[in-house]
Amino acid sequence: MSRSAVDAIWRERRLAAMRAEVEASHDAHPPQGQPRHGYDPNQPRIPQGDPDGGQWTSTGRGAGIQVAAEKPPLGGTWIAKLLRELAMIAIKVYRKEASLYDLFGKTHGTVAYTKIDGEDIFGSNSTLPMYTKADYDQAVRLRDAIIERYPDLLKQDNIGEKPNDVFFHGETNVLLRARTKLGGTLAGRTIHVYVDRTMCPSCIKVLPKIGLELGNPTVTFEDYAGRTRTMKDGEWLR
Ligand SMILES: [Zn+2]
Repeated sequence: MSRSAVDAIWRERRLAAMRAEVEASHDAHPPQGQPRHGYDPNQPRIPQGDPDGGQWTSTGRGAGIQVAAEKPPLGGTWIAKLLRELAMIAIKVYRKEASLYDLFGKTHGTVAYTKIDGEDIFGSNSTLPMYTKADYDQAVRLRDAIIERYPDLLKQDNIGEKPNDVFFHGETNVLLRARTKLGGTLAGRTIHVYVDRTMCPSCIKVLPKIGLELGNPTVTFEDYAGRTRTMKDGEWLR
């Protein structure tokens, strides 16, 4: 990924992070006389020499939004880590807008996120409120097509059993939505999907075939902890 592309994502996500932090500060009700904003000599800075050198970074207070507050490791991995953290912020903002946090601030369900041609695309599993009837109908059509093509892969006697739940998971939903946005196929695309949960066994078993059915893009899934899996030609590559 080019540096300018990273910079563009960085700028955009910084805005999202600031918005999330402002919302968190409203929730936190800081004591009077201790303003949260403005100059703070203890606030960490990104090291000089870094492309973002000298810029203020989050203190991690409030909602715990913390972007690049620690010195990134050498090599390319810090970009991967930065992008992952930005993606998790995007998911957090998306969840917040859809009020998917329960009373204790815990999350439920799965949200997947990707960016294609500059556009944010989110997916969720079917139990979450942003999952639509159109999502469900697409998932059922996809399930029927895959069952026909791979009769041994899926449960046919009890169609609601695992691994058939894969069609209603966030990973599948984000790919289906991406396909719709791109006019019906993901052929020739390289897609990076961030997911805020660990991948389940049903997804591990069936997603590569789903990818093939949707036009055989190269898709890398990355979870919140940086674990990745890449699929192409109906198989996991790594
Ligand atoms: Zn799954």
